[in-house]
Formats: sequence, structure tokens, C-alpha cells
Amino acid sequence: MSQKPQFLVLIEADRCKGCGICVQFCPRNVLQLSDRINIHGYHPAEAVRQEDCIGCQACAIMCPDACIEIWRRVPKPQQSSP
Ligand code: SF4
Ligand code: SF4
Repeated sequence: MSQKPQFLVLIEADRCKGCGICVQFCPRNVLQLSDRINIHGYHPAEAVRQEDCIGCQACAIMCPDACIEIWRRVPKPQQSSP
């Protein structure tokens, strides 16, 4: 049985200017602007549905300030018994 790949969305919230471009371009509605305010007074993007991320990197490519990184989670290899 194949497992759905899991991705980790990392957003540098204090560099984000809350423009919402990444939110608009995400095809899976993973992102939204946060209610909280960052050090510059903006509502930063946050990943609210990480489990739905397909790793397309549209958000990272479109972010004008390169605030987003997408990482693939690699499952730990199964330990074989001696
Ligand atoms: S990598 Fe793709 S699916 Fe994942 S958060 Fe970014 S735009 Fe959305
Ligand atoms: S595109 Fe970049 S700067 Fe704009 S809201 Fe998303 S993470 Fe923030």
C-alpha cells in the first residue's frame, strides 16, 4: 500500500508582509493569513492544513520575499529485528 507523501510548509512569519499571494496560489487551500501580527505589524501567512499539501511549491515560487520553504517528510526506515 503506497503512503501519501507528507510535506512540511515552513513560513518565516516575521519576514512575511501578509500580501496573501501564497494563499491565492495554493491549489489545496493549505494556507491562510493569521489573526496574529508579526514584528512588522502584518498578518503573516500560516499553514493551517499541512496534511493537504501536495508539495507543488507554488506558494514558495510566488512569494515575492522568498519566505516559504517546502520540505518532504521522509519516513523513518523500518528497523529489522536481529
Ligand atoms: S506547496 Fe503547493 S499545496 Fe503545499 S502549501 Fe504550497 S502551494 Fe499549497
Ligand atoms: S506570499 Fe510571501 S509575503 Fe506574501 S503572504 Fe505569502 S509568505 Fe507572506
